[in-house]
Amino acid sequence: MTDTRPLNDAEALAALEWYRAAGVDLAVGETPVDRFAASQAAPRRVNAAARAMLAPASPVAEAPAIVANADPSETRQLAAGAATLDELRAVMEGYDGCVLKKRATQLVFADGNPEAKIMLVGEGPGAEEDRLGKPFVGRGGQLLDRMLGSIGLDRTRVFIANMVPWRPPGNRDPTPEELALCTPFIHRQIELVAPKILVALGNVPTQALFETRAGITRMRGQWRELTINSHTMPALPTLHPAYLLRQPAAKAQAWRDMLALQAAMRRLGL
Ligand code: URA
Repeated sequence: MTDTRPLNDAEALAALEWYRAAGVDLAVGETPVDRFAASQAAPRRVNAAARAMLAPASPVAEAPAIVANADPSETRQLAAGAATLDELRAVMEGYDGCVLKKRATQLVFADGNPEAKIMLVGEGPGAEEDRLGKPFVGRGGQLLDRMLGSIGLDRTRVFIANMVPWRPPGNRDPTPEELALCTPFIHRQIELVAPKILVALGNVPTQALFETRAGITRMRGQWRELTINSHTMPALPTLHPAYLLRQPAAKAQAWRDMLALQAAMRRLGL
């Protein structure tokens, strides 16, 4: 039987704590909605497309890039029309077609030096980034600063942006649709900065930029030539700082990647 009496203070606090631990950090409506009850009441219809998505994927050696059900032609056109980073920021500010924007506090465009020779691309803003409007300013960002510092870099010598510029709620991964819509923006950002070296931080930017389904543990540390619009550069996938906070033992691999980055910078005279 469902208990419908109002919660007392201790119960309400416990419920809030439970939501917080589950990653719920934003209320989207004034009145709660029981979506479990709604989905039980609705007849369950699974169409052919949904059935195909639910079918177990067969393992393939080099699977194709993730396919999204979204049309990025508008963002492609907007991004292509931006002649400078300032113009690009303005068109992104004005774009309302990505659902992430509706729940984010603000656009998180980029940080660092737009003239930098090294560009880092992360996944998407977290809570702190959403609050401050800058990428990588939370705990992961502090670790990233230390990693960069270990090879003599800081934010005056790099440019940092994300695959999606609005925070995915609860720090979930961006969906393939959100990525598809936002990719023209980060592509144009990369093209306008035209870095000599690009570093992809973690799984999401690695899979999206290299157009692969290969995971970061397989891709990390492997340099590849990457062509984004009109710009070609060597690119290095490495582990995401948030992953390193959860798996400190993996810092040894990230350290090797930082040394490889430093060696490449020296080779290119950067
Ligand atoms: N993680 C990211 O991928 N990007 C940020 O800006 C912050 C955390």
